[in-house]
Amino acid sequence: MLIKPEEYLERLKSSRRVVYVFGRRVEDFTSHPNIRPIINSFMETYRLALMDKYKGILTAVNEEGEEINRFLHVAKSPEDLVKRVEMMRIVNSRIGTCNYRCTGHDAINALYPVTYEIDEKYGTEYHRRFRRFLREAKRNDYAVTGAMTDVKGDRARRPSEQEDPDLYLRVVEERRNGIVVRGAKIHQSGAVAADYIIVIPTRAMRPEEAQWSVSFAVPGDSKGLIYVHQWNSYEAKFLLREEHGLDIDIGNLRYGIRGTGMVIFNDVFVPWDNVFMYGETEFTGRLIEYFSAHHRGGGAGCKAGFGDVLIGAAALAATYEGVEKAGHIRNKLAYMSYLNEKAYSTGLAAAYKGVRTASGSYIPDPLLSDVAKLAAAEGFPEMLKITADIAGGLAVTGPSELDLRNPEVGKLVKKYLKTRADVDVEDRLRVYRLIENWVASPHMVGAIQGGGPPQTQLIGILRKTDFARKMELAKRIAGIE
Ligand SMILES: Cc1cc2nc3c(=O)[nH]c(=O)nc-3n(C[C@H](O)[C@H](O)[C@H](O)COP(=O)(O)OP(=O)(O)OC[C@H]3O[C@@H](n4cnc5c(N)ncnc54)[C@H](O)[C@@H]3O)c2cc1C
Repeated sequence: MLIKPEEYLERLKSSRRVVYVFGRRVEDFTSHPNIRPIINSFMETYRLALMDKYKGILTAVNEEGEEINRFLHVAKSPEDLVKRVEMMRIVNSRIGTCNYRCTGHDAINALYPVTYEIDEKYGTEYHRRFRRFLREAKRNDYAVTGAMTDVKGDRARRPSEQEDPDLYLRVVEERRNGIVVRGAKIHQSGAVAADYIIVIPTRAMRPEEAQWSVSFAVPGDSKGLIYVHQWNSYEAKFLLREEHGLDIDIGNLRYGIRGTGMVIFNDVFVPWDNVFMYGETEFTGRLIEYFSAHHRGGGAGCKAGFGDVLIGAAALAATYEGVEKAGHIRNKLAYMSYLNEKAYSTGLAAAYKGVRTASGSYIPDPLLSDVAKLAAAEGFPEMLKITADIAGGLAVTGPSELDLRNPEVGKLVKKYLKTRADVDVEDRLRVYRLIENWVASPHMVGAIQGGGPPQTQLIGILRKTDFARKMELAKRIAGIE
């Protein structure tokens, strides 16, 4: 079923959650200035899916023949994977930030095949449970996010070696009707406004690490869940926005920046029906592999959507400044477009070369997915650098809109920020704030770390590249027996 954005919002409004922003417990999180942009982004994923022109891309048809949001769809062909990459670009270029539903989509597409494979080996019932959960999610068009990243403590130590065993989320109690989990997931994009959170382990576990080898789904308002919202300079802006009625200064007016935070699982009960893996340590690696392939392949569409907005902002700044015809500016814009399409193409290639799992679902080619993520992690920061070059310093040195409105200095500020008669100073500042929103915000760290730091992709590429075959080819050409 496809629901309207307002229905999602209504559902959220009736949900009670423990949310902290800037050290204070928030009463109504749905109207809080720091959380509301996240909710606006989720709402856009619902709104776009109802538009005729995105039918078949933002939507898919489920096994019962009903139209559903593609963010809840299990890929059953390479074509499905291609549409996911396209969907990511469309949505992210419309909101200029994270859509928050992609990690849930990745977790769904990782758990579907893995639960099937665990059942095949152990005769468990995870796949049936998972399908039941998914049916329910589709029936209600739930906003689902995926929680993988643990706080991890000392990176040189494994979960069982940490001073505090809770630094990786784990099972602390088994009951007749379910389990109790404790731990904290960090950098959780949009989780605060999700209907459901799917939890998966952050790393491959060893046989003695059964208590950390757990995957499950919980409603976002489960008892024991505590959300601690991120804090950075942009969050401070959002708070000031309310106090001073800011508009121009914000950059991305409706959808803000990437809203993440810490989700603490303070002894949360999970009924068995929502447990999709527990103790099958040898399948944790597979689960992460499927999740990463899906996330990294699709992530190329995500960054391409960002890139579309970034290129547009850089081109606008150049036009407002009167340098749009300069040869080096045109070259730089062309190079940005090249970087953007390169990352997008590798994501599409990973999708086209998608591989079938034993369950009948498809995941993007794992090697090409790593390449796609790395291409985006290299290309996107390079695009930020070029934008900073094209735009000049105003992106980080400009005055506030409050200076523009000031009765004493406002006129002078406008006079000196005017470039020519047909360029409105406020419009110029809006573009610069949008550029600031990219070049001096969490987006760069997000592009590098999201989907795992670059080293994890290089390790993946090293493992998946058939070097022996390449040496054979080289030997044959060189005439080595
Ligand atoms: C904006 C943003 C949004 C995100 N959204 C989500 C989300 O929605 N859901 C989610 O689950 N996660 C999310 N992430 C998390 C992301 O996947 C992690 O940031 C990433 O996996 C890195 O983990 P970390 O931040 O703990 O860094 P670390 O793991 O501490 O990595 C820091 C550096 O240390 C290196 N390193 C770490 N461990 C070792 C080791 N044992 N040996 C050698 N080198 C090591 C890494 O290669 C890296 O260079 C998000 C991250 C960001 C920045």
